[in-house]
Amino acid sequence: MTQGILARYRDRLPVGAKTPIITLGEGATPLVQADALARRAGLPKGSLYLKLEGSNPTGSFKDRGMTLAISKALESGARGVLCASTGNTAASAAAYAARAGLRCVVFLPKGGVAMGKLVQSLMYGAEVVEVRGNFDEALALAMSTARREGFTVVNSSNPFRIEGQKTGAFEIVEQLGAAPEYQFMPVGNAGNITAYWKGYREAGPGRPRMMGFQAAGAAPLVLGRPVLKPKTVATAIRIGNPVSREGALRARDESRGLIGKVSDAQIINAYRLLARLEGVFCEPSSAAGVAGLLKIRHEGYPIRGRAVCILTGHGLKDPDTPLQFAYKRKIVAPGGKLRL
Ligand SMILES: *Cc1c(COP(=O)(O)O)cnc(C)c1O
Repeated sequence: MTQGILARYRDRLPVGAKTPIITLGEGATPLVQADALARRAGLPKGSLYLKLEGSNPTGSFKDRGMTLAISKALESGARGVLCASTGNTAASAAAYAARAGLRCVVFLPKGGVAMGKLVQSLMYGAEVVEVRGNFDEALALAMSTARREGFTVVNSSNPFRIEGQKTGAFEIVEQLGAAPEYQFMPVGNAGNITAYWKGYREAGPGRPRMMGFQAAGAAPLVLGRPVLKPKTVATAIRIGNPVSREGALRARDESRGLIGKVSDAQIINAYRLLARLEGVFCEPSSAAGVAGLLKIRHEGYPIRGRAVCILTGHGLKDPDTPLQFAYKRKIVAPGGKLRL
């Protein structure tokens, strides 16, 4: 049977003898070498890798944290779980809660969730509440509802989410044989960059520079203040007031990394390059780290050693964005002669 991260990293996670293990076999995601993309970034062969977190059971890295958060909620006798989400946290919570037999209520910003993610929450049987507002407003409503109703919050403010997500760093160290010199990733609520930095600190002596990227229209950590009306095509990082702000700044400073911003055009460019050059279809938000790498290389930023880009979610989550681009397609009648 496929083991999930709770079984594989039990000794490094807050899992006790009485903790029920709610798993879908998350983790153990591929780390693939990306030489064509490396060439684009002016980097040598064998120096750039992609961590395909879209290969997790519900299609995003959120499953790493959710297997633990839901297991612990069940252990503590929770009445139900609840979250606010731009889509992936909700899809993941809904799936694991279904397995645990727990009620799951998800608060989604109306119109701000990619189609694939919305249908996942519906299929897994979550109680879906659409909030006429943005993510930050949905989160405030979720938190006050949870307090009043006695539900467990499974947003990344839940420390078990961070604990579970740190296992991504353990895997990269195992897959490369050591920590890389750089890690590039998108930053939204900043739970993931916080979790990876914790994971690397626990994994051993080698530590990458943590290179986080926000979308230019939703870059509170770059601006140093919350953004009231965050705007970007990358809905998973359309967040104006990150919950794990302190953790992200700590990761940046302690690792001597950076948190930068990339435009929507740069995100979309990286998103399309990943698919065409590497055969890797991720969602737009996931491409923000790669966009950041290409941007800073273009500006002459030196990279020495190996770099890993975390591709946080699967491209099929968001089937609408690709349909906005033009493609060449042939339409033929059967029986005709087709010249290629
Ligand atoms: C949640 C999410 C992010 C952002 O992660 P944070 O922990 O909020 O910084 C990025 N990409 C995808 C696909 C996500 O689902």
